[in-house]
Amino acid sequence: MKPTIQPYQYMALRQTVDELINVYQSVNDRHTVQTVQALAVEKIREAVPGNYPEIEELITFSLDTRLTKARAQRWFDDFKAFVVPFAVPSAKQVEKAFRKVKKLKVPDFEQLDLREHTYIGWNDPGSQKKFLLLYADERLLGIAGSIPAGTKKNICSICHKEGNVALFMATTKTGAEGTYTKKGNYICIDSEQCNRQLTDRKNLDHFIEQVKEVK
Ligand SMILES: [Zn+2]
Repeated sequence: MKPTIQPYQYMALRQTVDELINVYQSVNDRHTVQTVQALAVEKIREAVPGNYPEIEELITFSLDTRLTKARAQRWFDDFKAFVVPFAVPSAKQVEKAFRKVKKLKVPDFEQLDLREHTYIGWNDPGSQKKFLLLYADERLLGIAGSIPAGTKKNICSICHKEGNVALFMATTKTGAEGTYTKKGNYICIDSEQCNRQLTDRKNLDHFIEQVKEVK
């Protein structure tokens, strides 16, 4: 398999198949199941437009009503080879992306499953800071902000799913006098979980636009 799709597309496919299995296991009516299957196929094609044998295989696989979550899990483990991993930046690139941050603690990229990351996010509990690293128009972009230790259940501004979120205050330098202004967004405290829930790149891009527009 040639790496082709992005991690968020992989997550979208997983979520669709997962929901389909829930229906297989809870609905007996054949017509209802068929309707849900047709919708799932539509969602799969929407998530990955274009003609790929890998996607056709996934569709055939997911239409089997005896499918279990364990089998789907194994299947998706192999299917991960179809995902383009997050490109590991050099230390210099990371430094440049976070120019204003002193003593930046960078995560060990090798420890991460890079095929499960649309963005890389990590917390520095000592300084109550959170760092987000992603590619926007092929440029590496770093966003730093403060995040309190406490969380609550709410909708995350990045993945748009419910989770344990905290108010992330992005720090942006504005004006000649170098004052910093902040604007808050609730986002998942656990960026690994957030990436697994991130199924639409537009949501992430919208969040980035909001954070960058801070004046
Ligand atoms: Zn999230």
